[in-house]
Amino acid sequence: MNFYDFLVSRMGIDARVAFFVAETERELASRFSEIDEIAAVNQLKVLHAMQESRLGDAHFNDSTGYGYHDEGREVLEKIFAEIFQAEAALVRPQLISGTHALAAALFGNLRPGDTLFSPVGKPYDTLESVIGIREASGSLAEFGIKYRQTELLDDGSFDFEKIREALADSPKMATIQRSKGYSWRKSFTPGEIRELIAFIRENSPRTIILVDNCYGEFVAADEPLNADLLAGSLIKNPGGGIAPGGGYVVGRHEFVEAAARRLTAPGLGSAVGPTLGMTRTLLQGLFLAPQTVSAAVKGAVLAAAVFSKMGFDVNPGVFDERSDIVQAVKLGSPENVRAFCRGVQAAAPVDSYVTPEAAPMPGYAHGVIMAGGTFVQGSSIELSADAPMREPYIVYFQGGLTAAHARAGVVFAANELWL
Ligand SMILES: *Cc1c(COP(=O)(O)O)cnc(C)c1O
Repeated sequence: MNFYDFLVSRMGIDARVAFFVAETERELASRFSEIDEIAAVNQLKVLHAMQESRLGDAHFNDSTGYGYHDEGREVLEKIFAEIFQAEAALVRPQLISGTHALAAALFGNLRPGDTLFSPVGKPYDTLESVIGIREASGSLAEFGIKYRQTELLDDGSFDFEKIREALADSPKMATIQRSKGYSWRKSFTPGEIRELIAFIRENSPRTIILVDNCYGEFVAADEPLNADLLAGSLIKNPGGGIAPGGGYVVGRHEFVEAAARRLTAPGLGSAVGPTLGMTRTLLQGLFLAPQTVSAAVKGAVLAAAVFSKMGFDVNPGVFDERSDIVQAVKLGSPENVRAFCRGVQAAAPVDSYVTPEAAPMPGYAHGVIMAGGTFVQGSSIELSADAPMREPYIVYFQGGLTAAHARAGVVFAANELWL
């Protein structure tokens, strides 16, 4: 019995859907082998960083309380710094999420009267309350930090003319979001981000450049390494689906340390922070991350192929260069969004029997429907789909700890959408 026979005979999938996905998948063999090659080089990058940092068994001992002299934490951070070719890294279970890591980097480095600038349009939804684009108590705006953005051009590229103007008074910080977030724009490749960073440096050399790297890690063979700071979540790509939580900030030493002082306290910075027994798990997740990310990217490519053949607009397209694990599908109606999410939920190992519904979420302005029966709550390197319940009803599909599971997720979602 093959994969698709099992789905039909044992798991309730319509034979026509299984046949259609199987046929679509056969056309993607060369695309999948490119993805395997990227995973292979990223695997070496992680392995090499662990070897260079002389990771040893003793580093898996945990620390408690203040976490002074936690050598495991120090080597974990050295490994992250090595992978991102950065001077320093802050990798902590105490960073709750990507939003928290980004907020620590922003609050740590900005002061009253400073300006934060986004050259790529509106940032991710949860950053709206951090920055104060959406009124929120405790936002950067409340501390007298100004914000401005330039919009992308209609074709989704950078508006260098407007960006040059916006840099005239040398804003203190610029923030560049790599992944599309809940929008229909393209996700920027490391090469495109490097070009944008070079342009910012040319026009405003003192601006501190932060890249929101969420969903981007290990998707390409390189990263936007010329940034001053990169931040992300460990329940996305770099946790490999194994990390039970955490976030990271890497980059120039002084800016990473400023983020650490925001996370802990002035005077303490990165010198404190217990790992509470998580060091081994975080390192194991990091070691598996290139493989896990490649599984997720294969699922995203298959989803692009399947749902575009079913008549939906997809972003990115099947053969477009990928810079994140997210596949956006424009479904056009709330019924379709619910059906898609029902399918993804039914394909989950955990909570497969529940029906996802849109609900208010902390940090988001709209109701968001989230499908994801995950081992780690809210983990989106695990198979998941989410959609803000608003026009034009786009679902964002991502994750899958194994390629077979990501594939099953696509089949289940297609099964629910099938007429
Ligand atoms: C996920 C994500 C974030 C942060 O979200 P958290 O849920 O707080 O981890 C920020 N930016 C982008 C582009 C994201 O995808």
